Amino acid sequence: MNNNALHARSAAYELDMNDQVRDMLAAAATKDPDFQNSCMSHDLKRRIKWNWSDYATFDYPKSVDDSIFIHHPDAAVDVGLDGDHGPSGLFVQSGKDGRPLILVRSPDDAFLPRVHFTLLHEIGHLLQRGESTLARRLFRLEDDVMRKRFEEDACNRFASRSLLPDDYMESMFENQGVTAQNIRSIYDDDLNRWRSGSINYQRVSRPCIVRRAAEMMDDPGSVTLLNPKGELSIRAFSDGHCEYQPHDGTSGVSTAEREILSLFPKRLDHRELSPMQLDNLQEVKDAIHVSVAGSFSGRTSMHTLIVIRRH
Ligand SMILES: [Zn+2]
Repeated sequence: MNNNALHARSAAYELDMNDQVRDMLAAAATKDPDFQNSCMSHDLKRRIKWNWSDYATFDYPKSVDDSIFIHHPDAAVDVGLDGDHGPSGLFVQSGKDGRPLILVRSPDDAFLPRVHFTLLHEIGHLLQRGESTLARRLFRLEDDVMRKRFEEDACNRFASRSLLPDDYMESMFENQGVTAQNIRSIYDDDLNRWRSGSINYQRVSRPCIVRRAAEMMDDPGSVTLLNPKGELSIRAFSDGHCEYQPHDGTSGVSTAEREILSLFPKRLDHRELSPMQLDNLQEVKDAIHVSVAGSFSGRTSMHTLIVIRRH
């Protein structure tokens, strides 16, 4: 296959990617019939380690020593957002005992959604390297950079779809489709599901929910998450691409989002623009739905969700 035809976001790339992720999910369910239940559980780490012990050795150390790279120069190393703490996860095809090794950094104060995402991402590597159909699709790409990008992209999408499966997302959007309120409900539902005493376990992160919500949109559009300071955390588009806060010190909030927020000085509740308000928007001309919702973290700080669906 011509690699040039497969640059990211091209139709051919997306088709191959969809096939790859679909087959990865199927392969995971074949290897572990309880896989989906484990992914929907806050006890994901322990369940995966137990259920997948035939396929790989799992290790969740508090920190990852750099010497691991000397022992495993062929490892797939994944550095998370907190790159200064070293790798967040690692996949080695053939570890000390000849078996695949999956290592996920998991300090005591770890942000659990990140640990979960990384663990599933590494399982994505295990599947793509180990299953013949998946490996074939991967190694058809002759260009190393392209193959690496495809593999990593597929691992990320596999992780998000394992944590937030289509069935679950569809049930949450059954009423009114993708709205800011429904997205907030996914987060709250997840948090309330895993309450233990006074502690609510967070299984999946807000940005992960936002990316999946944008993918589920029937219309072109975007889902924006602002942090409690009002800065852009992530803006995910229905075609799969994402934007983050720029590094130039600006908030990253668009003029359209500013205009929408100016209509709702208090964003505690869910609000949807009326047809008349939609018509009056200066910065968004083709919107068919705009909604805003506040999502609390802790008692006082609030994230903001903005959904824009267009014709
Ligand atoms: Zn990776």
